[in-house]
Amino acid sequence: MNCVSTKKLLLAGAGHAHIDLLRSIINSSEPPKHLQITLVTEQPQTIYSGMLPGWMAGHYNLADISIDAQALCEQAGVTFIQQSLAKVDAASGIVTTADDKQLDYDVLSLNTGANTDLRWLNKAQDQLPANTETAVVPTQFPTQLPTQVVAVRPISLFIERWQQIIEEAKQSACYQLAVVGAGAAATELVLAAQYALRLINPNHQAYLVCGDELLSGFNQRFKKQVIKQLHRHKVQIVYERALGYSEGQLHTSRQPLAIDALIAATGVTGSAWTKHTDLSTVDHGFIAVNKVQQSISHPNVFAVGDVATRVDQKMAHSGVHAVRGGAVEADNLLAYLADQPLHSYDPRLRTLYLLSCGDKYAIASWGRYSLQGRWVWQLKKRIDKRFVKAGFN
Ligand SMILES: Cc1cc2nc3c(=O)[nH]c(=O)nc-3n(C[C@H](O)[C@H](O)[C@H](O)COP(=O)(O)OP(=O)(O)OC[C@H]3O[C@@H](n4cnc5c(N)ncnc54)[C@H](O)[C@@H]3O)c2cc1C
Repeated sequence: MNCVSTKKLLLAGAGHAHIDLLRSIINSSEPPKHLQITLVTEQPQTIYSGMLPGWMAGHYNLADISIDAQALCEQAGVTFIQQSLAKVDAASGIVTTADDKQLDYDVLSLNTGANTDLRWLNKAQDQLPANTETAVVPTQFPTQLPTQVVAVRPISLFIERWQQIIEEAKQSACYQLAVVGAGAAATELVLAAQYALRLINPNHQAYLVCGDELLSGFNQRFKKQVIKQLHRHKVQIVYERALGYSEGQLHTSRQPLAIDALIAATGVTGSAWTKHTDLSTVDHGFIAVNKVQQSISHPNVFAVGDVATRVDQKMAHSGVHAVRGGAVEADNLLAYLADQPLHSYDPRLRTLYLLSCGDKYAIASWGRYSLQGRWVWQLKKRIDKRFVKAGFN
């Protein structure tokens, strides 16, 4: 008699790759055999970041932008554990959760995303003008942040804080909100914020504090179109570096800005748990992976999306790579367990980026090309809704 042992596949984080894997198990006519799969993740629902600005602007409700990871697990026959990852001991094959439970695995897949990079808050002390009296915020993420400082990640916390900002704005005669960041996410967030705040009171004002350059890496035409939209919405663009926050003041390289709240969309840094692992990491806590999204130090560990950094080539941390790389990684997990060859994730040269502009207007960037209009928003809405419902397959 042939006795096949059951292997344990542990999925950590309900990011794009794991949502995709759950969906492919549900849709498969042949679900994987001899495999015990567990998903451990912080929240039963995964919020789709691409639709977050649309939710802030009031075009979507929370259910529209949420993917029910727990329900997908039930349908896929996967054990669901709502818990945060605290430590990965890859040498022993043990994951420890925040409530101190230990989970063992044969193969581990990491898709826990990343945290907002708040190191710029730390730099302030030595860069602020000597006469500035400031108690610059502590940067232990995220509990020690003053309530006025809101990081866009983790998104579940951001969702709570945005609702509070809206309530505060309803009580204020002139609410001042700064978004710090220079990328597409910061730009979308400030446009959505300005749109939502101005619906409450036309005196409310959003600022985009973006340093020297906005939207670096995008084509010039796209940048011009985005800046035009920022002007149309009367967002104030502050081309200065943000250095820190204290007592209602956002300190910048020139003069401080009096604000009621600050949203930080200042890139990503490694998840907190990556401080407690023997896996190889690079660049402040990203799991170092090769072209098949496999840890370079422990071959039975895979990582994809914002939690990982490819060591063989430069690749931005973005939703596009989390989704496309995630699909490849999901196949590789099953192939690795079945002793079959693994495939590399080769990103496309150009990716489509659709940037929403607060109201139902959007701008598309594709390599050197750029298009805009209400129809682009409708296209984005269709793509996003399809993704939340069924993924990109
Ligand atoms: C406003 C905004 C708009 C964006 N728009 C775009 C866009 O249009 N196109 C694009 O390419 N990119 C976009 N991005 C970037 C994109 O959101 C990320 O690159 C992408 O979400 C990363 O996906 P992921 O699968 O790695 O992780 P995530 O989507 O971040 O998912 C991580 C999952 O892990 C869980 N988790 C986190 N920590 C733990 C832990 N310790 N233990 C257990 N579970 C944990 C989380 O709850 C979540 O379920 C945008 C980002 C923002 C903020």
